[in-house]
Amino acid sequence: MIKNQKLLKEMAQERIGRLLSMAKARTLEQRKSDALSKRYVNIAKNIVSHYKMPKGKQMKAEVCSSCDSVLIPGINCSVRLASSYGYIVYRCKCGAEKHVIYREAASKGFGSGTAFDRESKARKC
Ligand SMILES: [Zn+2]
Repeated sequence: MIKNQKLLKEMAQERIGRLLSMAKARTLEQRKSDALSKRYVNIAKNIVSHYKMPKGKQMKAEVCSSCDSVLIPGINCSVRLASSYGYIVYRCKCGAEKHVIYREAASKGFGSGTAFDRESKARKC
């Protein structure tokens, strides 16, 4: 058994990041989420479960939990604001929805054109 568990988890985290970026690039290239990009995400999920690691922020924010596709607004997901509840709804083509509160979306780095960002830019001018 390898003693350095910390090093193993760092390597796993690096590999997960690389797999997610490959899946994102593939989705952008094909203009849809195909089987290969879903396979990349599936491998990343298997690594997370094997090493019993928490899902990273990138994986939580960008991956559909039901169909394993990388969510890219305008390609395979739609974005709408539920202003009365104060959250953003990302709806995947498979029908699954991800709800992100405005403040969380701003800190996670979702698209810079969110309503929260526009308000802050308007105040500066
Ligand atoms: Zn989906």
